[in-house]
Amino acid sequence: MEMDEKAILEQLESGKLSLHKIEEYIAPERAAKIRREFIGKLASCDLRAIGEVKLDYNKIHNKNAENVIGAISIPLGVAGPILLKGEYAKGEFYVPLATTEGALIASISRGMKGINESGGAEVRIINEGMARAPVFEFDSAKLAVEFSKWVEKNTKQIAMEAEKTTKHGKLKTITSFIVGNNVWLRFLFDTGDAMGMNMATVASEAACNYIEKNFSDASLVAISGNMCSDKKESYINELLGRGRGVVADCVIKKEVLEKTFNTSAVEINKINIKKNLLGSSRAGSSKHNAHFANVIAAVFAATGQDIAQIVESSSGYTWTEERNGSLYISVTLPSIEVGTIGGGTSLSTQTEALSMLGVLDKTKKTGENSRKLVEIIAASVLAGELNLLCALSKRELGSAHEKLGRNKK
Ligand code: NAP
Repeated sequence: MEMDEKAILEQLESGKLSLHKIEEYIAPERAAKIRREFIGKLASCDLRAIGEVKLDYNKIHNKNAENVIGAISIPLGVAGPILLKGEYAKGEFYVPLATTEGALIASISRGMKGINESGGAEVRIINEGMARAPVFEFDSAKLAVEFSKWVEKNTKQIAMEAEKTTKHGKLKTITSFIVGNNVWLRFLFDTGDAMGMNMATVASEAACNYIEKNFSDASLVAISGNMCSDKKESYINELLGRGRGVVADCVIKKEVLEKTFNTSAVEINKINIKKNLLGSSRAGSSKHNAHFANVIAAVFAATGQDIAQIVESSSGYTWTEERNGSLYISVTLPSIEVGTIGGGTSLSTQTEALSMLGVLDKTKKTGENSRKLVEIIAASVLAGELNLLCALSKRELGSAHEKLGRNKK
């Protein structure tokens, strides 16, 4: 049923129509305009800029967001190029970064320069699989243990049921964890080029239905029992991985350290140990790095990833060694959760950002585009770590932000 804008606004104001129902009467772009008018009036504010950002209203509706009123714009810059010698990412790449932190892109770019001058970064993927971990309850611990054994014996059948829901999703493993009369099953899925959280959840639901039908003492408490662990800091992701785990490294030549960074391997190594390892341990932080989250957040925002997954995607270790004046530096990230399909990746600006990296190549085998993206992200994180450690050794952190990252008076 059609309704004109004025009538819709009146119905909203009288409380007869809910904000999320406007699309039942009018196209998504006009619905957003009406919501802006309604909220702008209510809050006595001007929402024009929010409405002026280009947005794929039709694509977003029923897919990416509800009660849409427009978009927030975040500046997008590029760092690079960075020279990569990955298994999937080979050659030079300019990396899109969406951020409002002045000095960040310049910092990563300088790190990339140092890596290039030292011959480029090696990158390898070390683990793969998106996890979903439902929790079941039983009358006793005895039944919980029996259940866990039953799951082990019936993994093939459970996988078949799960995989009926998806073409690309494959159940790789099921790991049981028991606490008293409760059992968590940590399902690990190969999700191809998708980050896979919807895919894994839908498939896990099908698996759980089968389990409850065939092991009648099992009662599902929740499809996500937090042993997954999604959008939360956890040791399980660090130990077993989630999404893709990746390691990137490079030996930064002595002369590059001196010329480009005006520092030395001994100084960097000391800062890494005392800051990233000792300082993080003393602070009780599992993030043994300088600022993985900066690069992860900026790439996630630019390429349409689920930005709440920055939490676990930015955990990991920076490891350095002094080698005859040169610096060995590596970053290890056990759980980067990204995709080149699904979620926000199909929005026009995010798609363009992904295409800059050459990760939308339809000729590639399933999973290869996503693996390439993960390798590029890890190498960019390496560049970020290198530059920040160098800046700290020269006490440049404050001055760089003073110059590039502050509101000028
Ligand atoms: P999705 O868009 O829900 O699923 C990916 C889709 O792409 C599937 O329909 C898949 O089909 C298809 N596909 C086509 N080519 C593919 C390829 N080469 N590789 C993999 N899949 C391919 O995305 P998702 O990655 O599963 O989930 C991401 C979304 O989940 C994000 O929006 C995120 O915010 C949200 N999320 C959900 C939960 C949750 O609990 N549900 C939690 C956190 C985040 P087939 O399945 O038939 O293979």
